[in-house]
Amino acid sequence: MADSYEPLILIVSGPSGSGKSTLVKKLLELPGTMLSISATTRPPRAGEKDGEWYHFVSDEEFRRMVERGEFLEHARVFGKHSYGTPKKWLEEARARKCDLVLEIDVQGAEQVRKKLPESIAIFIVPPSRQELEKRIRARGQDDEDEIGRRLERARLEMERYVDYDYLVINEDVNRAGEAVRAIALGARSETKRNGERVRQILKSFGG
Ligand code: 5GP
Repeated sequence: MADSYEPLILIVSGPSGSGKSTLVKKLLELPGTMLSISATTRPPRAGEKDGEWYHFVSDEEFRRMVERGEFLEHARVFGKHSYGTPKKWLEEARARKCDLVLEIDVQGAEQVRKKLPESIAIFIVPPSRQELEKRIRARGQDDEDEIGRRLERARLEMERYVDYDYLVINEDVNRAGEAVRAIALGARSETKRNGERVRQILKSFGG
């Protein structure tokens, strides 16, 4: 058996309110997957614990991490806060023989695709502008100006859909959850990712 496992890198992007975090959680229910915990300079929201979904750091610490080359990708999102994917999760995924799920924005996705062309990029699309607006309002987090900005950003992000391998329209969360899991399961079985293992199995036949 080949003893090094090359993890699948599953990128999930989508506008705020598209339900992407819920779908990432559904993806993480698949055995053999793990979350890449991003570092961010954004302050934690109520109920967010450090190290669970994000590692909350100061601007200074983030800068140091950039200087030390600790990030696979990093970006300033919405011109406000910095977010980055620490490279260490890749090592961790290899060690644990797990596939790695990255919930990152379109800029981050572009950087990862350049560095790791074998990665799989999934874009979560809301069913309509009206539905997205309804979901953003239902969260009750934002004032009118912020809602307007989020919708405009959603439009700009959605224009990048062509850069992604898969599009999942989140009309029904259960079906969308099945879709993201199916993408991961299908990718695990791709011939190009399994050649080495099958060669080893063939060897055991004395071929
Ligand atoms: P939020 O602050 O609402 O949790 O996330 C804001 C945006 O930052 C989302 O689009 C999310 O996907 C993105 N994001 C989260 N972590 C990362 C990361 O490590 N890198 C990049 N480029 N974007 C991230």
